Amino acid sequence: TEASAAKSVSDLTEGSEVVLADTEDPGGAQFYRTHQAQVARAVPHVPIADHVRLILSEPKNEVIVNFPVRMDDGRFKLFTGYRIQHNNILGPYKGGIRYHHDVTLEEVKALASVMSYKCALLEVPFGGAKGGIRLSPAQHSKRELESITRRFVHDLGNNIGPEYDIPAPDVGTNSQIMVWMMDTYMNTHNQIDKNAQKRIVTGKSLASGGSRGREKATGQGVVYCIQEWADERGVRLDGCNYILQGFGNVGSHAAQIMSRLGAVLVGVQDHTGSIYNPQGIYPRKLIDHVNKEGGIRGYAGAEEINNDDFWSIESDICIPAALELQITEEVAKKLTAKLVVEAANGPTTLKGEEVLKKRGIEVIPDVMANAGGVVVSYFEWIQNKRSESWQLEEVDSRLLFMMKRSYHEMRAFAREHGVDNRTAAFAVALNRLNAVYTERGVFP
Ligand code: GLU
Repeated sequence: TEASAAKSVSDLTEGSEVVLADTEDPGGAQFYRTHQAQVARAVPHVPIADHVRLILSEPKNEVIVNFPVRMDDGRFKLFTGYRIQHNNILGPYKGGIRYHHDVTLEEVKALASVMSYKCALLEVPFGGAKGGIRLSPAQHSKRELESITRRFVHDLGNNIGPEYDIPAPDVGTNSQIMVWMMDTYMNTHNQIDKNAQKRIVTGKSLASGGSRGREKATGQGVVYCIQEWADERGVRLDGCNYILQGFGNVGSHAAQIMSRLGAVLVGVQDHTGSIYNPQGIYPRKLIDHVNKEGGIRGYAGAEEINNDDFWSIESDICIPAALELQITEEVAKKLTAKLVVEAANGPTTLKGEEVLKKRGIEVIPDVMANAGGVVVSYFEWIQNKRSESWQLEEVDSRLLFMMKRSYHEMRAFAREHGVDNRTAAFAVALNRLNAVYTERGVFP
């Protein structure tokens, strides 16, 4: 018999035993396979139907648009934009848009899939998606970024929608870019209520329909997780040391909130270098420096250190809040922390994870640790839909409730099945997806 070109569950080679080497990442492929192997580890622990595994092994839609934009010097450049829609069985597709010079299709596919599990774990009634454009935001003027953003949204056309697929910020994008996206969508969709569709994107500025607490939400959620972890173990955060990789939206907000709890930031790394101060780095002052200089390098309140030495700084907690595949085998061997909190998506490699496990370093995985962003995006979407504006206290307390609920579900599953937090988090999420697919069946 001839082999069919269609995939079946036996073709899913990414088994729970897979451990990829820390090779160079050829275009995001390592990240995608790493994520799939992480999901595969949860499969033996949940009664998941074969067809559900099969469906979740690929994104539902992959939208790629190539579009020209005139640069300030008068010349045109052609950009490639991605919007990957992984799954929408739990609700509209949801996920951020990344602007970064390393963005690739495979990377965006991995990130879209991560979103499906994140929303399922948090009981946010959304599916998973991600978008991106391969570009360096710092190398474009504001006008160029605006044109790129508007043309991208125009070309996505009806592939996004307020009840269909709702973008948000991610690495390299912010509330200004979200507002341009909203405005472009409104101007190119000619319904009578076109100006009412604010919820086409989340992460907007407060003035243009954003939610209080959205900007800090991911960092806030990271800290809520750390507080739960500390409570569980009787650890005092007051006076404990931590290191932080990445000082963008997520890292800088997490750091400010950690400071208020008395935790001491002893080391920071970003794309410009690494800094160290055992006496503590003031997040607020570092933010002022970064706003002026574009990176942490040259900050007067700390000593500059080697990027490799950053990881061995004496600390209790390590917060990767930058990009994927940072905690490699080599890095994991150097860490002195007892806890790794994945504020970034996919920061730990499979080899890195193996070392962490052997060394007894606990991990709060990305789908749990950084879910605060999409949770408050959901709140923003609800507020827009109802024409409401919630107070910060309400946003924060609802966020805390949802983070806690899922955190303890993850921990309970981990204890009951004797698995790590990541496996437990994916298992809880898979159970939810599986239940819906089992009830609804597969059309036709
Ligand atoms: N980009 C964020 C994430 O990775 C937020 C997504 C959203 O708010 O939709 O979770």
